[in-house]
Amino acid sequence: MTEPQPGGRRVVLASNNAKKLAELRRILEPLVPGIEVLGLADFPAYDEPAETEPTFEGNALIKARAALAETGLPSLADDSGLCVDALNGMPGVLSARWSGVARSAGGDAANNALLLSQLGDVPQERRTARFRAAVALCVPGGGEIVEHGEMAGRILAAERGGGGFGYDPLFAADGYEVSTAELPAEEKDRISHRGKALAAIAPAVVEALGD
Ligand code: IMP
Repeated sequence: MTEPQPGGRRVVLASNNAKKLAELRRILEPLVPGIEVLGLADFPAYDEPAETEPTFEGNALIKARAALAETGLPSLADDSGLCVDALNGMPGVLSARWSGVARSAGGDAANNALLLSQLGDVPQERRTARFRAAVALCVPGGGEIVEHGEMAGRILAAERGGGGFGYDPLFAADGYEVSTAELPAEEKDRISHRGKALAAIAPAVVEALGD
C-alpha cells in the first residue's frame, strides 16, 4: 500500500488490468519526466463504479472521477475497445465483456472466438475495424480533460502472436501484415489508440503535476 505524498509527481491510473497498466506506464513514463504511476492495487480497495455510459469518453470519466474521489490524486483512466465495421461498430464499449465470460475466467480467448465466429466468412475487404480509446484526466479542484486516439486496421482470419492482450491476436493495423500481438511493444505504443490518446493528454498531466 502506498501513502500519497504531497507534492509528489504521482498520478493514479484507474485500472486493475495488469497488462493494460504496464502498457499505460510504458507510454506515459517517457512523456512525463519523473512521473510515478500508481495503480488501484496501491490503494485500499473500493467499489469501482459500473461502466454504464454508451461512450468510451463517458466511461473513462466515470473511472477517473471515482479514482480522484478515493485517492485525492490526479487520476487518469482509459476506456477503449474494438469497433468492427461489419458489426456496425460493435463490440465497442462492450469489448471487454463481449462473450459474457469474465477476464479472469478466460474472457479474452472467449471474446476472440466469438468475434471470429461472428465474422464467419466475411471477406477480407469487409473485415475493417478500429481500436478506439478515450483517456480522461481528473485533477483535484475539478479540472477534467478527455483525449481520444484511434488505430485503424482489419480483423484477421485466425489468431496470430502471443503478445499484447485482448483482441490483439486478431487485429492487424493498416500497413502491417502481422497482428498487433506480434509487434514489439514500443511499435504498438507508437501506433496504438491508447498511445495516441496518452500522447495527447501528456501535456495536461505535466501541467497537473506542476514543478
Ligand atoms: P476497458 O478495460 O473497459 O477499457 O476494456 C477494453 C477492452 O477492449 C479490453 O478488454 C480488450 O478486449 C479491448 N481492447 C482495448 N484496447 C485493446 C488493445 O490495445 N488490444 C487488444 N484489445 C484491446
